Amino acid sequence: MRASLPTRVRAVLDVTGHMRQIDLVGPDVPRLRCRPGAHVVVHVPQRRVYSVWRHDPRAASLSIRVALHDAGGPGCTWARSVAEGDRVTLEPPRSKITLDGTARFHLFAGDETGAVPLLAMRAALRGSTASVHGVFEAAQPADEVPGAAGVAPLPWVHRGGASPVASRVLLRAVQDLDLPPGPGAAYLAGEAGTCRLLQRHLVEQRGWPRRAVRVQPQWAPGHPGFGAGRD
Ligand SMILES: Cc1cc2nc3c(=O)[nH]c(=O)nc-3n(C[C@H](O)[C@H](O)[C@H](O)COP(=O)(O)OP(=O)(O)OC[C@H]3O[C@@H](n4cnc5c(N)ncnc54)[C@H](O)[C@@H]3O)c2cc1C
Repeated sequence: MRASLPTRVRAVLDVTGHMRQIDLVGPDVPRLRCRPGAHVVVHVPQRRVYSVWRHDPRAASLSIRVALHDAGGPGCTWARSVAEGDRVTLEPPRSKITLDGTARFHLFAGDETGAVPLLAMRAALRGSTASVHGVFEAAQPADEVPGAAGVAPLPWVHRGGASPVASRVLLRAVQDLDLPPGPGAAYLAGEAGTCRLLQRHLVEQRGWPRRAVRVQPQWAPGHPGFGAGRD
């Protein structure tokens, strides 16, 4: 598989007032191997990492969902202006966070950006007998990221004007979850400080083994190009 994959924008749609979905098509897309939760580097033209929301090999299409945040770096600027027909270069998918197929139950928690891979993973559990739990955080109800069609939604909490960094709102919501006894598999994604707080809660307060908690930090204040390596 080539390191740089040419694609073209097939469609752009507003998922919420602060998130855009960009559907890309390209000759290499059908051959990509995408596990639920995988991400791609997109040349915007700087390198920025986006989770794969949907991969449809038959339609040769791959969709990403980009949060439009106020600090607005190159990724946001690109997502705001990208249009049907634009050429976009991708790097092949990689996975940091993956589903644990042996888990007795699954727990998902994250902010708006974390919801993209986590809801894709949650959709992949369709038909699984293991129960699914979790909670997501958005600034306000209108920013809740819709999941895949036909999949039962998980609850959302709202931080209002509070900071999304090291979010106590999401921590409290996870602390309040009524979970089955014993560890399941947890998947945490979003702002790095929030992920750390949630991980510490599961390990130190609920006594889960560290390996049962899979974490994907996706952004942090003052860290442009988070997770993209060289810029
Ligand atoms: C594995 C992985 C998967 C990711 N998946 C997604 C995804 O599916 N969707 C998505 O939108 N992003 C995702 N991200 C984050 C994405 O890569 C970019 O970091 C993000 O879009 C910001 O890029 P930017 O160029 O606009 O800003 P940058 O130039 O990267 O950052 C400028 C500043 O903006 C602030 N900032 C960055 N992100 C946010 C935010 N969400 N809210 C508030 N302030 C912010 C920070 O203070 C930062 O210093 C993922 C990151 C990783 C590592």
